[in-house]
Amino acid sequence: MMKCRPITDIGVFGEPLSPGAHAHRRGGPRRKRHPRGPKPFADFRRPTILPWPEGGGRPLRMVGRHDVFRRLLIANRGEIACRITRTAKRLGLHVVAIHSEADREALHVRLADESLCVGPPPARESYLNVDAILDAARRTGADAVHPGYGFLSESADFARRVSDNGLIFVGPGPEAIRLMGSKSEAKAIAAEAGVPLVPGYHGGDNSPEALARAATEIGYPVLVKASAGGGGRGMRIVSSPGDLPDAIESASREALRAFGDGSLLLERHIPAPRHVEVQVLADSHGSVLHLFDRDCSVQRRYQKIIEEAPAPGLPGELREAMSQAAVRLTRAIGYVGAGTVEFLVADGGFHFIEMNTRIQVEHPVTEAVTGLDLVEEQLKIAAGEPLGFGQSDIAAVGHAVEARLYAEDPARDFLPQTGRLHHLAFPAERPAVRVDTGVAPGDAITPHYDPMIAKIIGIGRDRGQARLALSEALAGTEIVGLATNLSFLVALVRHPAFAAGDLDTHFIERHGAVSLESPSGDRRTMLVLAALAAMEDRGTAVEADRRTSEDPHSPWWRSDSWRLNDDGRSAVTIRDGDERTCFEVTRLEDGYRFESGEGEEWIRGVVRGPGASLVAEIDGHRRRGAVVVCGTDLTVFLDGARRELVLDDPGAAGMAADVGGGSLTSPMPGTVVRLLVEVGQEVRKGTPLLVLEAMKMEHTIAAPTDGTVETLAYGVGDQVEEGIELVGFKGADA
Ligand code: ADP
Ligand code: ADP
Ligand code: MG
Repeated sequence: MMKCRPITDIGVFGEPLSPGAHAHRRGGPRRKRHPRGPKPFADFRRPTILPWPEGGGRPLRMVGRHDVFRRLLIANRGEIACRITRTAKRLGLHVVAIHSEADREALHVRLADESLCVGPPPARESYLNVDAILDAARRTGADAVHPGYGFLSESADFARRVSDNGLIFVGPGPEAIRLMGSKSEAKAIAAEAGVPLVPGYHGGDNSPEALARAATEIGYPVLVKASAGGGGRGMRIVSSPGDLPDAIESASREALRAFGDGSLLLERHIPAPRHVEVQVLADSHGSVLHLFDRDCSVQRRYQKIIEEAPAPGLPGELREAMSQAAVRLTRAIGYVGAGTVEFLVADGGFHFIEMNTRIQVEHPVTEAVTGLDLVEEQLKIAAGEPLGFGQSDIAAVGHAVEARLYAEDPARDFLPQTGRLHHLAFPAERPAVRVDTGVAPGDAITPHYDPMIAKIIGIGRDRGQARLALSEALAGTEIVGLATNLSFLVALVRHPAFAAGDLDTHFIERHGAVSLESPSGDRRTMLVLAALAAMEDRGTAVEADRRTSEDPHSPWWRSDSWRLNDDGRSAVTIRDGDERTCFEVTRLEDGYRFESGEGEEWIRGVVRGPGASLVAEIDGHRRRGAVVVCGTDLTVFLDGARRELVLDDPGAAGMAADVGGGSLTSPMPGTVVRLLVEVGQEVRKGTPLLVLEAMKMEHTIAAPTDGTVETLAYGVGDQVEEGIELVGFKGADA
């Protein structure tokens, strides 16, 4: 394996954190909560904003004398499975995970008490495989099933089959799921309940003629929508009658493929609405409450990437009327559980679009402002408990903003990316920051599932504080290995229009191309940080070799042996694209001095103690950053900016590359871009042999020991799979 170490996370000669160490951070301090006082909801009025709700922590018991359920099967994966596990365990439940063959080592499996494989990687054969999931429930003795979101969460058939098998479904009844699963039926019911709709057509006649007549009546542009749609799929904007037939055809086809149902509806396309939704909670004793609103206007491809609670700048009456409308609809369908009623807000009014009958991705922002644990409430409702509070007991205090961190490339129309998270570090959770994730360092984002990596939530007493907390938290997040929207998110939350709360669903299109470019960062400081990391890595590599060598006390292993070169100086060259910067390096007591030859420039680089960041000081200006070293690739993080640099030092290249592991296999799928040796060539330990390009980074494969190159299985331009032997090599001592 290629070594990828965050220089921030090692001491000068310390050990890298073990894989999973970052994930391990989670669950630490946040458990230390003030226990909820005797007055159950006193906290809501206290301006103490916490990242995670306290929760009641009572075991799940119904009015009767025995537990309603003890063993909860979570029919999902990723961050939501981890998040449900967290609450379920706090409540004393035994957690059963399911996993596909691709997820054997996934975080949600590791957090659960037990897990069963339900099939091959494709979701259709595993996480959507109802028979296999019910069989897993039977084999593990589960007595309740939580569906999470996505997958089977909005399948009425699944909910029914769970109940038919004598299990409790943590969610609404199948009839409510069915009614709201069809946007057309939902709109009919909403209209009856006096909920304003987006003007449109949701009649049963889907013939091209009927739709064309309806479109003319609604007025162009119209939005063609899949009635069974979700995740923004099956939607087409049509601006003139001539384009309607094609749009109907393709939307229907997409819907049939994605949802098994090609029915369509039409809506007037509202030019720049806000997406505002209301969280509802209903128990099986007739109590229906709302938990205020969220704004989820910042979207790409009709999918949310930033959500916040409460929705900023809404008039009080509008807010209240919208909440009441949500409660009316919830009541009208006899809904039980947590749900979300979605509206578009435009021209001073609000218009119902759909109801999601499940826990929502963005539920943490509501938890942050209400202090409620929505998963706990779902579980208690499923156990038949009445809600222990009324509408007047709850209030929204403070503000929370969530950003969805995705493996996707904003520069290429947010195209999802796959690859391995060679390095992954989240900011520490604290009252102002919550991180929900389902992955650990070293995990892969595969094409099989949703490419969301994490949700990062900033919390504060007001929107400004919450936004700054999120901005800081995003700037403190480090990912190396694949393209993500991280820098884009940083630019987004720092954008003046976002700061001003000037939100609508076209925010990204409007500000996208120019002003949401990733921050490029202070290049000079980043170069120095890279050089500093390279020097540290040299030291670490030398030290590691010394420890395993037969004579660890040999003067050759002194990490300051660079002194032998000449007058105590050494050199390090950093490549930024085609540009090379060569630094003369002098070792100081507490760091290094770098001179780049241009004039009298004096730069100091300082490494603070173990676990601390790197500090570059240029002309008296100190900046703190972090560098992840992966072979000769140096990924520099500075104040939300990120830059990929390369150590361009032949001697050090071998040193910094994978000399210890001796692995000559491809660390990930990639392309061979350079062969540096020939068959039969004798090489010294650390000699670079081959360069692989993967995930847009170059990785140097180096000789593990002195020896001879026996075979070169691939040529320049060849694609290689992960774990393939690239070089046949015979060690000198073999
Ligand atoms: P939210 O409003 O909670 O963001 P979305 O509609 O974006 O809801 O969907 C939430 C998650 O569920 C996303 O990860 C999405 O990809 C997934 N999802 C939505 N609908 C489906 C579906 N029918 N099948 C599988 N996954 C879905
Ligand atoms: P999904 O089930 O995929 O979540 P929704 O009906 O909730 O579908 O719509 C998703 C997003 O599409 C909304 O948040 C909004 O940005 C946009 N949208 C939906 N309906 C309209 C409309 N009538 N006019 C303008 N934008 C719309
Ligand atoms: Mg929606």
